[in-house]
Amino acid sequence: MKTAVYPGSFDPMTLGHVDIIERISKVFDRVVILISHSSQKNHLFSAIERQQMVEKSLSHLKNIQVEIHEGLTVNYMQKHKIGVIVRGLRAVVDFEYEMAMAAMNKKLDKEIETMLVFSSPEYYFVSSRGVKEVARFGGSLDGLVPESVQDLLIQKIRTTK
Ligand code: ADP
Repeated sequence: MKTAVYPGSFDPMTLGHVDIIERISKVFDRVVILISHSSQKNHLFSAIERQQMVEKSLSHLKNIQVEIHEGLTVNYMQKHKIGVIVRGLRAVVDFEYEMAMAAMNKKLDKEIETMLVFSSPEYYFVSSRGVKEVARFGGSLDGLVPESVQDLLIQKIRTTK
């Protein structure tokens, strides 16, 4: 069985993430979405909220699993015997960061491969940070985040102001 890990913050999940996951779920038998939990980082949504949001947005896919993980992605992968990390690539600005991260993961475990998937053209500008900004100032979230995420995001921003 071919399994890939798709790690990220998903704070919140966007349609760019959904697009990448839909596409890689056709290539791999199973995709584990690994939600990073870090006490150092200031996330808008808690790890559990992000897990529920991702599960709801992907309920149409049968071969995915959503897990919360604190620590290095490679540690999770070694523990669960998974050899492939998939990351999404938007514009050139993502490239250096992703290249360094892939090299670091290779240094930590030479058996682990990182595969990069290009964003679909309609989502190359969509980021979690960008959609939070749009939501904060009352812009339309249509075409940016899944419908089920829109209300959650608006509500969350309202209550954390
Ligand atoms: P991180 O917190 O590591 O930046 P994110 O939660 O923002 O992770 O995203 C997880 C993964 O999804 C990363 O590989 C990121 O490059 C990718 N990604 C985010 N937005 C998009 C998008 N619009 N199109 C394609 N890939 C994306």
